[in-house]
Amino acid sequence: MERYRLYIDGKNCDPDGGEWFSSESPFTGKPWAEVPRGGPSDIERAVTAAHRAFVSGSWPELTASARGLLLHRLADRLAAEASRLAAIEVRDNGKLYAEMHAQLNYLPQWFRYYGGLADKVQGSVIPLDKKGYFNYTRHEPLGVVAVITPWNSPLMLLAWKLAPALAAGCTVVIKPSEFTSASTLAFVQLLEEVGFPPGVVNVVTGFGNEVGAALVSHPLVKKITFTGADETGRRINEQAARDFKHVSLELGGKSPNIVFDDANLDDAVNGAVAGIFAATGQTCIAGSRLLVQDGIHDEFVRRVVRLAETARMGDPMETGTQVGPITTRPQYDKVLSYIGIARAEGATLALGGHPADRPECGNGWFIEPTIFTNVDNRMRIAQEEVFGPVLSVICFKDEEEAVEIANDVRFGLGAGVWTSDIGRAFRMAERIQSGTVWVNTYRAVSYMSPFGGYKDSGLGRENGIEAINDFLQTKSVWINTGAPTGNPFVMR
Ligand code: NAD
Repeated sequence: MERYRLYIDGKNCDPDGGEWFSSESPFTGKPWAEVPRGGPSDIERAVTAAHRAFVSGSWPELTASARGLLLHRLADRLAAEASRLAAIEVRDNGKLYAEMHAQLNYLPQWFRYYGGLADKVQGSVIPLDKKGYFNYTRHEPLGVVAVITPWNSPLMLLAWKLAPALAAGCTVVIKPSEFTSASTLAFVQLLEEVGFPPGVVNVVTGFGNEVGAALVSHPLVKKITFTGADETGRRINEQAARDFKHVSLELGGKSPNIVFDDANLDDAVNGAVAGIFAATGQTCIAGSRLLVQDGIHDEFVRRVVRLAETARMGDPMETGTQVGPITTRPQYDKVLSYIGIARAEGATLALGGHPADRPECGNGWFIEPTIFTNVDNRMRIAQEEVFGPVLSVICFKDEEEAVEIANDVRFGLGAGVWTSDIGRAFRMAERIQSGTVWVNTYRAVSYMSPFGGYKDSGLGRENGIEAINDFLQTKSVWINTGAPTGNPFVMR
């Protein structure tokens, strides 16, 4: 078994408590690595190192262009290591190698994009309404940033946060999910190789209520950027509010994937299956509510069922595998419990509904692709995030009803619309309350395009030019160029 170590102040080190816990492979159900169980004193060391690196040493001395260059170098190293890191992710979270490899190959672009942006952060000169003053703005890095990530795409979701944070000039303490810490610990070794000063990036692994909570409440942490479950996000937001910390949250979803009767149905069938069974449904943007117009409902559902039932399950490292295991044992239990809830609520089981009993799935945590029809949008299976391969199909009669059902949920992360009517595409894009709307496609993301949630799906946006602003604060500077300093009791 591989034994990993914490990464603090540019060094690999043991946790103060001297304890490790095991990380299990979802495909074999067996431990494959040992991860350090950090504690509050490790957080103290890491935040102190990050703070020191922020205020002194070579990091604050670097020009923005030099910072950008470091990010470009990191991108090159990451590109060279993509296959190795993808394999670590697969062992840890059980997602398909094909998917993780594609993600890892794409990730260097985040570091290139924000590396290029680093020296384009500039203030402005304000044409004041007052004579005798010169006023300008500076955009300065916030300080130490806590980066907290979940288990479903550890390095991709880390890159979305880390690249703009470093480009802005912040320093960082990362707390990856306790279920998938290995790839983050392997990745940060590259930072030292390309020349990031010690302390700029630190990693403390461990459990959410131990290290996560200590990190969030540390007084030297000025911003928390979090991806994970909405209840955890709420707790973090409450703590951040008490301490006046900046916070951005990428939370869950219950995204509608809406198929109109005028859609290209071949594409829409693929889009519906991609929306929920790709990544075994373990994505925040899963199209877990399939809304189908009444005239095509029965035939469309038959086609989705036919495609889903032929999906190949098995070893996520095999290139032919299409559906892998559930990443964690608690998540496996949660998905099965939601299948029970849907049955009890009266939804009709059209496919799956049980653990996979196939020789190619071994002892892994596999659940058959599951489809429920006759779902009412008020059912829990339509309102609550399952985060697994479970699709709820809901029938609608017209555009008005589609919008009503799509928006009748507390989340608002993604939505798909399948139609050949261009006017309808624009109308739906305007009326759906979600951070992303895909028309005649699903699950596309880019470092250039803002990503985030409406409603309970989160606060703030990642990706795109503006994401760097979340790691900056604005200072207004007033220079007196000749205004008289008159009556001290009157505002100037
Ligand atoms: P989680 O909230 O249980 O854990 C996420 C991270 O928070 C982990 O690192 C965990 O250790 C840490 N954590 C837990 N309690 C904490 C606390 N009190 N203080 C600080 N940190 C704490 O989520 P998860 O189960 O790992 O991930 C699945 C969830 O993530 C789903 O709800 C999914 O929708 C969401 N998600 C959202 C996006 C998005 O971009 N919107 C992307 C992926 C996943």
